[in-house]
Amino acid sequence: MTSGITDSPPGRTRVSLPVFRTDFMADAHEASSDTQLQAAMDNSVTKKDMSRKIALAELPDADALRELAGQIKRHTLDHLDYYLELLEENITRQGGHVHYAMDSTQANRLIVEIAQRTGSKLVVKSKSMVSEETELNDALTEAGIEPLETDLGEFILQVDHDHPTHLVMPVVHKNAAEIGHIFARYFKTEFTDNPQALAEMARVHLRHRFDQADLGVSGVNFAIAETGSVVVCCNEGNGRMCVSRPRIHVALMGMEKLIPSLDDLPVFLKLLARSASGQSLTQYSSIVSGSRRPGELDGPEEFHLIVMDNGRSRILAGEYRDTLRCIRCGACLNSCPIYRKVGGRTYGSVYPGPIGALLTPLFNGLEEHKHLPHASSLCGACFEACPVKIDIPKFLIMLRGDQVQRKITPLAERLIFRMWSWALCHGWTYRLSQIAQKIGMRALRGKDGWIRKLPPPANGWTMQRDFPAPAKQDFRQVYKQYRADQRRKESR
Ligand code: SF4
Repeated sequence: MTSGITDSPPGRTRVSLPVFRTDFMADAHEASSDTQLQAAMDNSVTKKDMSRKIALAELPDADALRELAGQIKRHTLDHLDYYLELLEENITRQGGHVHYAMDSTQANRLIVEIAQRTGSKLVVKSKSMVSEETELNDALTEAGIEPLETDLGEFILQVDHDHPTHLVMPVVHKNAAEIGHIFARYFKTEFTDNPQALAEMARVHLRHRFDQADLGVSGVNFAIAETGSVVVCCNEGNGRMCVSRPRIHVALMGMEKLIPSLDDLPVFLKLLARSASGQSLTQYSSIVSGSRRPGELDGPEEFHLIVMDNGRSRILAGEYRDTLRCIRCGACLNSCPIYRKVGGRTYGSVYPGPIGALLTPLFNGLEEHKHLPHASSLCGACFEACPVKIDIPKFLIMLRGDQVQRKITPLAERLIFRMWSWALCHGWTYRLSQIAQKIGMRALRGKDGWIRKLPPPANGWTMQRDFPAPAKQDFRQVYKQYRADQRRKESR
């Protein structure tokens, strides 16, 4: 059985991502002075980036594999209508049900309806960024159905009413002591910050709840069109429990999560685990093809796949199509000097880091998130890390260009850059501006040779760091001197 697109109730359609915070500058300022956050970033994020590099070096030709993965994704996106139909056909043939949701409201409503029809009161969930995108937990709770996160990080966030700040390490912003206090409050036990003891508390609590749940919700790492299967990767075993233990399994995916065939899967499994955590493979990779067949011991009685658009077809149709290749591995976050400094909360939406700086304005509009395309030094680390070779810096520059074209950038800034561009195009104005800068900046120089505070509009530079005063001689003067010395030597 296949259900078509469901209409949203009037006034409730929302084609966007939920936004938690919007004051990027204030949040970035706060986060970069947060010593606990900085320690967490050094402990987890930086180490994961190093592990990724080591794990990729084990492959005979990691760069060729990344190229291949990018090409497979591009091919799938170019023929998405064909592969979606093929996926639907193959899932239906195996007794599963495919539903299409225009937006997050429709996706949530479909899941609530399935839960209500099957009399499910408790829904166990494996980690799923797309369910964060739809705010599924809120929709289930509103309908009187209890959602329970079973990934350890997501469980901690659920009991603390917090949001993930990383795509694969949702609770990276909290340390063991903080988690100890959260669990002491929730389980009403003695405080401990021993990671094993904390994990054991959650394990014991969650284990028996899998037996009580009628419905399991999972995300989808990859959907294989050729076989009508969905692939769910996890490290804790909870994902496999969610897809096999309850009577009903609902898998929720963004419509870009497709790959054409089973032969393509190893390419992505090899890259996903290495890029996300430096592992060769995730501990559990479950391939689910429909519901339990007669004679089979495991698996759900009903299998539903919800394919959600939520603004993706608009991105697919435009020049930012390649951003839909993302497999949500988090490698670009781990490699990004800005993310490491400001953490995930500052980005204000469910998708943080370099890919979030692209996706959030693409989904929600540039006006609402005008700082995000600038939350990058354009160093290129994200592009180098990306397993599907999304050229994130290129797209960030394109978004900046869009801001100027659409006059979202403030008038004063546009005028300054116009003058700057004019000055750069004329030798004498360039030299004149250099002399003026040198005189001005030397006047601001402290005794140690550093400038502590620049005046507006350049004061953003010195909010978090000092600025070096200009050298006595600039490059042109040094070069001129060098050439003169050379000529002297030659003429001897
Ligand atoms: S953009 Fe690339 S590196 Fe970043 S999460 Fe997506 S796939 Fe991973």
